[in-house]
Amino acid sequence: MGLEEKLPNGILLASVEKLVNWTRKSSLWPATFGLACCAIEMMTTGGPRYDLARFGMEVFRASPRQADLMIVAGRVTNKMAPVLRQIYDQMPEPRWVLAMGVCASSGGMFNNYAVVQGVDHVVPVDMYLPGCPPRPEMLIDAILKIHAKIMDEPLGQNRAALLAEQGKRTELI
Ligand code: SF4
Repeated sequence: MGLEEKLPNGILLASVEKLVNWTRKSSLWPATFGLACCAIEMMTTGGPRYDLARFGMEVFRASPRQADLMIVAGRVTNKMAPVLRQIYDQMPEPRWVLAMGVCASSGGMFNNYAVVQGVDHVVPVDMYLPGCPPRPEMLIDAILKIHAKIMDEPLGQNRAALLAEQGKRTELI
């Protein structure tokens, strides 16, 4: 007989890791940070029709100190890159980054001297979302995939080092 069968009703077993990850994924607060046209879809996703509040994340925080998800919504110019990096550095660990749209993911159609060819040159990216722009349903799907990723993360790891190990292209500026 397994341990769970021996316990009286009403007692739940869970690992601390799963419990902490569950609380983290259930209260992701995005930084208020929009760069270009993709941000319009991000704002729509936060409105009543798509209801991000269902996932405990309706509060877009004006301070990076209170945010743990950066949605890079739009193209990143070389001028903006240091600002984006500073905002990322001000977010406490653990933090996650979602590259929303083809511009944030790879530079998209803006293959020129002014635009960073993928925000992973500036910060480690956890999730790439294609589309121009991605619809709110697609953004919600990407957020749910980040939730699944969070649930599998070990506690106490250095996530920047982990992402670097995984071969991400981040070049700290
Ligand atoms: Fe604009 Fe399309 Fe680039 Fe998004 S992916 S920032 S919608 S051009």
